[in-house]
Amino acid sequence: MSFFQDMFSIFKKRELLFLESHKESEDVYSFLFEKEKDLNWKAGQYGLFSITHKTIKNATKPFSVASAPTENIVKITTRISDDPSDFKKALLELKQGMKVKMSGPVGSFNLEDNSPSLLIAGGIGITPFRSILKQLEADGAGEQKQIKLLYLDAKKSYLYKDELEVIAKNTSTSVTYLDSRDDLQGEIDKFNALYKNNGKYFIAGPKSLVDSVSSYLQSNNVSKRNIKKDAFYGY
Ligand SMILES: Cc1cc2nc3c(=O)[nH]c(=O)nc-3n(C[C@H](O)[C@H](O)[C@H](O)COP(=O)(O)OP(=O)(O)OC[C@H]3O[C@@H](n4cnc5c(N)ncnc54)[C@H](O)[C@@H]3O)c2cc1C
Repeated sequence: MSFFQDMFSIFKKRELLFLESHKESEDVYSFLFEKEKDLNWKAGQYGLFSITHKTIKNATKPFSVASAPTENIVKITTRISDDPSDFKKALLELKQGMKVKMSGPVGSFNLEDNSPSLLIAGGIGITPFRSILKQLEADGAGEQKQIKLLYLDAKKSYLYKDELEVIAKNTSTSVTYLDSRDDLQGEIDKFNALYKNNGKYFIAGPKSLVDSVSSYLQSNNVSKRNIKKDAFYGY
């Protein structure tokens, strides 16, 4: 998606009807909203979501749309600690029928071609990859693509694990669950040895992780243009 398309879509604000929320794990929740017919996004993109039912500071935050366009629902998934921000308190207060605003979708965190691709998720950074892989499964496109997901979570509380297992069965995607940075580097090295700069690298998660993985790739001769990043602030 081009810069100009992003600019256009960022100014387009729409209201989304809240449907339900559920827990994904001890401190992670998903929030589901109605998808209006004319709302479309590319798997991997994010929206800017705004709280409107009360006045709070920092009422707008970016969230990856964790659902695939074909699922016909807008889903965001987020970690909510015991001492949440006002934004996340307000998310927890949503009741069926209430609304939030969304602008976008924006971003270019998408699989573009059939290049072998390494998807690297740090914790909550799995959200854009859920969308991408669900879409791949729905398109039946998994067979042509070499896709490997490395999912790092030190606490081993891997989100969407059941869904990821099904996707791995239905497509040629492989999923490796990791709990240490050393193991992550080992897996990156294996992929890099096979594909070098013919591969594409996607990294999503807390900014510190995204930055360090990106530096590691570049120090191993992966060109910047083969690395796409979604850095989540606030973690
Ligand atoms: C492209 C992109 C995609 C993203 N996608 C996702 C996603 O899919 N899921 C996701 O979870 N995040 C995502 N993020 C990050 C998201 O926008 C938030 O920055 C993040 O979730 C942290 O939100 P927060 O409200 O807890 O942050 P902050 O307001 O920065 O709060 C951080 C911490 O500070 C403390 N705190 C802040 N305010 C208060 C308060 N008033 N009272 C008490 N304690 C407080 C809390 O402990 C809180 O956990 C994305 C970011 C980008 C740029």
